[in-house]
Order: sequence, then C-alpha cells, then structure tokens
Amino acid sequence: MRVVILGGGYAGLICALRLARRTRGQVAVTLVSASPWFVERIRLHERAAGSEPVKRELAEMVAGTGITLKIGRVTRIDPRGEILLGDERLPFEQLVVALGSHVDLDGVPGVREHAFTLDAASAASLSERLPAIAARRGRVVVVGGGLTGIEGASELAEAHPGLQVTLLYAGELGGNYSEAGREHLRRSLNRLGVTLEQGRVKRLQAGSVELEERSVPFDACLWAGGFVAPELLRQSGLSVNARGQALVDAYLRALGHENIHVIGDAAAPVAPPSPMLMGCKTALPMGVYVAERLSRLSRGQDSEPFDYLDTAFCISLGRRDGLVQPYRQDGSPTGWVFRGRLGAWLKEAICLGVSWTLAAERKGLHFFAWRKTGRKLSPPAAQERRLAA
Ligand SMILES: Cc1cc2nc3c(=O)[nH]c(=O)nc-3n(C[C@H](O)[C@H](O)[C@H](O)COP(=O)(O)OP(=O)(O)OC[C@H]3O[C@@H](n4cnc5c(N)ncnc54)[C@H](O)[C@@H]3O)c2cc1C
Repeated sequence: MRVVILGGGYAGLICALRLARRTRGQVAVTLVSASPWFVERIRLHERAAGSEPVKRELAEMVAGTGITLKIGRVTRIDPRGEILLGDERLPFEQLVVALGSHVDLDGVPGVREHAFTLDAASAASLSERLPAIAARRGRVVVVGGGLTGIEGASELAEAHPGLQVTLLYAGELGGNYSEAGREHLRRSLNRLGVTLEQGRVKRLQAGSVELEERSVPFDACLWAGGFVAPELLRQSGLSVNARGQALVDAYLRALGHENIHVIGDAAAPVAPPSPMLMGCKTALPMGVYVAERLSRLSRGQDSEPFDYLDTAFCISLGRRDGLVQPYRQDGSPTGWVFRGRLGAWLKEAICLGVSWTLAAERKGLHFFAWRKTGRKLSPPAAQERRLAA
C-alpha cells in the first residue's frame, strides 16, 4: 500500500511515525510538508514573548523510520489518486490530509494588514518588536478571549512588565470553565496587569481597533480571533464546513472519499463521539487512530470507528501560573481545578510529554493513549444519512 500523508504537524507526524513503525516497510509512507521544520505550535505564544524558536528538523524526527520525507507545498489534491506539489505529481492509494489550520486573517477587515498572529513567522516578528514597545510603555491589544488569546496576553504581560496589555474579547471570558476556573483566570490576569475589555471588533486600522462605538489604540495588535483550515481542502472538492475543515465520517474519512482520511485541525467529524475542538490534544489521537486503521487495512482488516472523550482544558498563564480544568464524562467542567504553580507545572509536563511521545514513536514505543467514551458508535452510513436528513 502506498500512503501519502500531507502535513508535518502533530497529526501528520505522529500518523507517519506510527504507521511506518507498525508496518515495518510493508506500507510505503511518504510525509509531505511545506516546511522542513516541525513547529511546536502549542508554544508559539512563548515565542511571541521572546523565547527561542520552537521548531525542530522534520528530517531528524523521522530519521531511521523508513518514512520518505518530501518538502514542498501541496497545491492541489486530486481525490482520484494524485497530489500536486507545484509541477510535480505524487500518486497515492491512501491519502491522509493533516494540513492543520491558520489564524483567520480575512474574517474581519484590516486584520491581514495591521495585526500580528500566533502563526510561526508572525510570532517571531512580534517578538522582535516588543522590547522597543515595552521600553516606552506602549500598548499591545490582544484580540480574542479563547485559549490562544488568554495564553498570549498572559505571556506578553509577564515577559515584558513595561508593556500595557489589553485583552479584548466578546462574550464571556472562560465560558467553558467552572466558577473556580473563571475566578482564577481573572485573578491571574489582574496580577499580571492585563486590562480586560469587552467588545465586538468591526475592523482594524493602523494603530487602532474599531469597535461599535469606540476605538482602542495600540502600538501592536495580536489577533487571536480564531482559526480556519486551508482553502486547499475546499478547492480540491472536499466537503467542508464554515471554517474550511473537511467533513469526515466515523472512520475519519472525507465524506464520499473512502481513500482519503483527514485528521487534526483540518478535520470536522460529522457525528463525533464528543465535541472535537481544534487542538493538539485531538490531533494526536486522530493521527494514531488513522495510522492503526491503515495498518489494519493493509492486512485486509477493518477497524472500529474513532472514539474520543475530552478530559481537560489546559492553559498557561505565563511561566509560573497555569489552569487545568478537568471535564466530567458528560463534558461539563468539574467544580475543582488545578491552578497556580501546579497548573503551570502540569501544562509544561503536557508540552514536554508531546515531544517525548513523538520521540518515542520514532523508536517504535507506542505508549500514547487517550480517553474514550466507550459508547457503541454508529457506523458511518447511518451518520451520513442523518447528516443528509
Ligand atoms: C499559541 C498556541 C497555543 C496552543 N496551545 C494548545 C494547547 O495547549 N493544547 C492543544 O490541544 N492545542 C493547542 N493549540 C492548537 C494546536 O497547536 C493545533 O490544534 C495543532 O497544531 C493541530 O495540529 P495539526 O497537525 O492538525 O496541524 P499543524 O500542527 O498546524 O500542522 C500542519 C502542517 O501542515 C503543513 N502544511 C500546511 N499547508 C501545507 C501545504 N499546502 N502543503 C504542505 N504542507 C502544508 C504545515 O507546514 C504543518 O507542518 C495551540 C495553538 C497555538 C497557536
């Protein structure tokens, strides 16, 4: 079997490593990535605040596994069995799409022109600008009250005490945390000197965020207003949702395409066992699941549908504080949380754990596991009928 995996991020890399090790040369695995680097996206807020680059060479991470690494940008997927890398054509029998996501630059006018983001290159250029802005006590406005906005605002405020940091958000901050979690979040942001402002952004201009009835001036704006999947999925004829994610069935196959699996941020299960947020915590299980599934298919065996249960939400609040909010089986937050230094330690342990997991997979040590609902899941045909209805 010839398997081509697109994307050398968390989902694509773990999928390639597991499949190559599990099948020991029986399956030809090619990993295609636009960049020669594996970027630790979950640390990009640290990078924006001034930490060292958070990337490692993909060639080193797959060395000795038999994976063929191809560096190049995919420009088209032909679902009939071919991908295009510029002028080059690469055939596949099974395709795994793990092209991730990027910050939505076009949802609000002016973001593309006037904001920094937590994508790798932009985070690096923000980190170069911040020391000068902090030296004159300038203002950074972070837009977005989700995980990346909160982590970004905390990290910048802690690393640059001279900076005035405003976190601008719509709706409720920490809406999916327990009361204890929300309280800790507010106390920590207050301790770090982060000003909280509520409002829905209409547009960005040079030097100011425009809201309905007022504007908020800035020396730099960090936009953390949400992620979308690459346009390439829609352009290649896959069925996608409003965020451009490919719709996938219970086996994580693109709807209508039995030989294309989509994993990580690029995938949206149509009837997931539990809500699947974009995240490293969902990308890794999806990657391992599809690797195991393809390994079984190569031996003529089928597999159970994908099963996943979210266990916790985990954010850093600078380097010395963090918040881990566990979830119950029904998806509701527990009344208790891990916070403070323990929270920071747990978050750091998770980030290190991801790196160790990838290194272990390269050596053929398959200890990665995740929590499952254990429910009997509907077969894909039933799900697709429900979706069509
Ligand atoms: C600051 C920050 C903090 C985060 N913290 C957390 C956290 O604490 N917990 C959590 O669960 N999640 C977190 N996330 C989200 C997490 O990083 C993503 O969900 C995760 O990276 C998704 O993995 P992926 O493999 O789907 O995509 P990615 O890691 O984005 O990988 C996509 C890959 O596809 C490649 N690619 C893209 N387009 C092309 C193309 N056309 N041709 C070839 N290759 C291409 C890219 O180069 C990359 O290698 C965080 C994200 C950010 C930005």
